[in-house]
Amino acid sequence: MLNSTGFIGKMFVFLLLITTPVAIVAIWLVSQGLLPAEYAVLLILTPVGPGVLIYNRLLRETTVLSHRIEHEASAPLFGHLLPGSIRSGLLPVNDLLLAIQQYRRSMQNLFKEARSHQDDAILLFNLLPDPVLVLDQKRRISRFNSAARNFFSADLAETDLTAYLRHPSLIKAVDAALGGEIESQVVEFKMAGSVGRYIEAHVTQIPGDGGKDLRVILTLHDLTTAKKTEQMRVDFVANASHELRTPLAILIGAIETLQGPAATDREAQARFLSMMHAQSRRMSQLIDDLLSLSQIEMNEHARPSDQVDVTDVLRRVVGLITTRASDLGKTINVMAPEEPLLVSGDKDQLAQIFTNLVDNALKYGKENTAVSIFLTRSEKSIAVSIIDQGEGIPSEHIPRLTERFYRVDSDRSREMGGTGLGLAIVKHIVSRHRGQLEIDSELGKGSRFTIHLPALVI
Ligand code: ADP
Repeated sequence: MLNSTGFIGKMFVFLLLITTPVAIVAIWLVSQGLLPAEYAVLLILTPVGPGVLIYNRLLRETTVLSHRIEHEASAPLFGHLLPGSIRSGLLPVNDLLLAIQQYRRSMQNLFKEARSHQDDAILLFNLLPDPVLVLDQKRRISRFNSAARNFFSADLAETDLTAYLRHPSLIKAVDAALGGEIESQVVEFKMAGSVGRYIEAHVTQIPGDGGKDLRVILTLHDLTTAKKTEQMRVDFVANASHELRTPLAILIGAIETLQGPAATDREAQARFLSMMHAQSRRMSQLIDDLLSLSQIEMNEHARPSDQVDVTDVLRRVVGLITTRASDLGKTINVMAPEEPLLVSGDKDQLAQIFTNLVDNALKYGKENTAVSIFLTRSEKSIAVSIIDQGEGIPSEHIPRLTERFYRVDSDRSREMGGTGLGLAIVKHIVSRHRGQLEIDSELGKGSRFTIHLPALVI
């Protein structure tokens, strides 16, 4: 609002400014004898009337203008501008108004730009794959991204960090950053909980105004998978060496015996040679399995594209394995529809899956039992079930059977010539074919291994 205090005083100054030059001229004319004194007074009073009128007019115009400015300033930035122009007289009110409206438009543009930058920043913040938290001076979570919300499955706003993470080394680093003792630190820790997760936390200080009000940005990087992969690699090397060392030790022992105590004992020689033969075969089988596993893994991303009839592949495998089945006193029954069951696949790899599964069913099935194989087709997939009548597998082992070298009974597996890699190979081939492996087992009754493959629609 226009401040109208001192209105009279201000008008008086205004009138003084108008009348002063007239008064000076009148006094000069009187002093020259050109004008009588009474006319001089009249002359001096002449501009007072128009002066008051002009002053009031100016006052009104500035009041209207100030109201408009006040309205523009207090209205929401993106609200409507007041339409039309102001009736003006003495002052260039409309020009001023136009300038204000232009200023307002440029403010709107600046604001829009700032808002779009802010939206981009929020979007990027939420698209970050790693959980990110911003902590205030009191270690409370003031901001967090979508990854953080998913990671903790909670709305973290305004909660103390220790409600979710309380590892001492992390809290120490956060406090040190908030206290200005460090600028950044990386802390690695294992999260408490049933499924322990390995986390690498980056604690970084956000400087506040004048070095005060420090905040911290906390980025969490889940290392669990990387650690697991590293552990698997270490375990794999250890297991593979162990698997090779055992037959090698037997071979070395047998050779030394043949060179020494059994050098002349033909019966012992035959026994040791047959043992050496079995161990060499075991090593060779192990190396074959390792090589095929690494080759399958290398091509796992590339789905095979040949058109393959699963029934045909399975019948060939069964044909080759029947002799081994009868050696073990077992039979194999195949129940399959007459028409071809087509999939997009790799014939040799599918044969390898069936060989491994039927071989296991024969190895782990009880004596004089049958292995049954069912081939069925649904609208979208083809299922091959291999069912044995063995001891079955305790349920706690089932999820781990496809890990390399994982065995329920290692001695029994080795005794049967197993390498512990058969089901790992099956899993990778099935995954390459975009299929699924299902394992069901009942203790004392037997096991069923089912492969589901996407059917080829021609
Ligand atoms: P292996 O060479 O030891 O047979 P696999 O990877 O083929 O290795 O199988 C892993 C383990 O799973 C086996 O050692 C065995 O304990 C178990 N297993 C696999 N198939 C069967 C089955 N049909 N019945 C019972 N146990 C099985």
